[in-house]
Amino acid sequence: MQQMLETIESEYSITRRMTGIKSLDPRIKQAILDTPRDKFVPRAYLGNAYNNRPLPIGHGQTISQPYIVALMTDLLQLDQDGSVLEIGTGSGYQAAILSKLCRQVYTIEYVATLAEMARARFEKLGYRNIECRAGNGYYGWPEYAPFDGTIVTAAATHIPPALIEQLKPGSRMVIPVGQQYGRQVLKRVTKNNDDSVEVDDILDVAFVPFQGERDEQ
Ligand code: SAH
Repeated sequence: MQQMLETIESEYSITRRMTGIKSLDPRIKQAILDTPRDKFVPRAYLGNAYNNRPLPIGHGQTISQPYIVALMTDLLQLDQDGSVLEIGTGSGYQAAILSKLCRQVYTIEYVATLAEMARARFEKLGYRNIECRAGNGYYGWPEYAPFDGTIVTAAATHIPPALIEQLKPGSRMVIPVGQQYGRQVLKRVTKNNDDSVEVDDILDVAFVPFQGERDEQ
């Protein structure tokens, strides 16, 4: 764990010019320390649970690299009493980190089996402020909107309009945008208090593709 944190911190300093973030927020560091990543990876990868690497979780999906989890969390600038929407529950690790830094996490997973596994994991590990459902996150979760932050952990070809609509003014969304095997850029979308929207490119990244973008287009 300690070595993983050191690697995250050194990646932060390598990328500081691109991200505008100098060092790992101590609250995020604490959330990482308090989250057993070994409980979120398949048994076969237990030995790699505390490496700064993405790992396969089945169904062609991955648990993200811890540095990217930390950075995306940092970019959201969450308030302890806010709510967050995550698209792409996967293993549930990112949601578990978020749950320590805000009041309530809502997370949607496209692959029903993964959603079920994540729900069982949250229950077993005692996470009580994470609500997880299976479905297509392209449309967000209108029942609980607006959100104080939105995080998308699969690469979309464009920013889903519903996710911007469901973002509270004064809040941020972090989302990788690009093609599956092409260039992907992590973007920070800021919804200002006057509802205007700003988009900043942060960093080149590699995520699994966002599914079901064109279901109703
Ligand atoms: N945040 C995850 C990373 C999972 S990888 C973790 O911490 O482990 C991205 C996940 O996004 C995959 O599980 C994939 O099935 C899911 N996904 C892709 N498109 C989606 C969509 N339209 N709605 C919800 N989830 C989606």
